[in-house]
Amino acid sequence: MTQDQELLSFTAQILEQNGGAVEQHESFLMALLPDKLSHLLKMPEEVRIGENGTPLLYGSPLLDNLVQFATQEAPVVYGELKVDYLKKAGFEQLINQKLSFGKVPTRFVKKLVTVSTYMVLICRYLAMSDERKEGLIEVALHEENGAIISGLAGQWQNYHPGFFSQTELPSHFPTHVDDIIRAAMISAQVDTKAELAGFFKGIRRHLNRDVKNTREYYQALQREMEANLENPKLSEEQRNQRKEKINDLPAEMDRKITDLEQKYQVKINITTCAALRFLIPVVRLTIEIKYRKLVREIHVNYNPISHSLDPLVCERCGETTWRVNPFDKDSGFLLVCSRCNGKN
Ligand SMILES: [Zn+2]
Repeated sequence: MTQDQELLSFTAQILEQNGGAVEQHESFLMALLPDKLSHLLKMPEEVRIGENGTPLLYGSPLLDNLVQFATQEAPVVYGELKVDYLKKAGFEQLINQKLSFGKVPTRFVKKLVTVSTYMVLICRYLAMSDERKEGLIEVALHEENGAIISGLAGQWQNYHPGFFSQTELPSHFPTHVDDIIRAAMISAQVDTKAELAGFFKGIRRHLNRDVKNTREYYQALQREMEANLENPKLSEEQRNQRKEKINDLPAEMDRKITDLEQKYQVKINITTCAALRFLIPVVRLTIEIKYRKLVREIHVNYNPISHSLDPLVCERCGETTWRVNPFDKDSGFLLVCSRCNGKN
């Protein structure tokens, strides 16, 4: 099985952020962990993570420990959002527009007005290179399945949020949310990279400028040194020494360029600031899916904050998606994303 690259870079980031030294390879990490981290993660100080090492998979103990470690200090608040109007009809059309279940027949069975729980995770990012840039990223998820709800992040403030005190917490909120936070942090990483596109571009521009100047400098230097060789006053030995120096110039220039690439490398640090967990009124839709002789019912929420259906999640890899396909599993079937559909 190929190693998930997002998990790998997520892990490298958390370890580095907490004092670990990490060497990232294509399918594994070599990490040197400080005492505290090695103790908390229950791993040796020098460890290989990923392929042929400690497994790094969704649901693996290592990943759960990492997520716990990364979020242990973020405060969590609980609240509810209020909406003035909840859509009453047109759900069948919305299902057909938004969701795709491969070529299998589906049927809208029923709707139920209820509440569902969602999480907004607020993360701070800090990108450092020759310049620094920091900011906040919000990721919103459906707590039931970890689907990323993009229309909820940045919108919840407009829906009269009210907060519960610790003594009056409704029982709707699930106790175990490690999977949700893990999905949120991975999504925050992807969003941060998108947010920093302009920053990366600026850094690349600076790097290209400095590399160009360096090349021009060495080319000019080489021309000048070659011209000096013509000087009749030079002894044979001096001439040979200078020729040797000229021959060394390309390697010296390459070293300078490597140094520049190091200098302009961007380090990104993402930390969780707070988690907001909300009860939101929704319309819960039941959809029946027929695959061969099998029948399954699934639930999808109409979300009044995003004014849309909540997306689905792949039942194999957990990725948020609008399109799933039935996938044989034991005597039933899973609904999986197109990437997982190609795997055995
Ligand atoms: Zn998948």
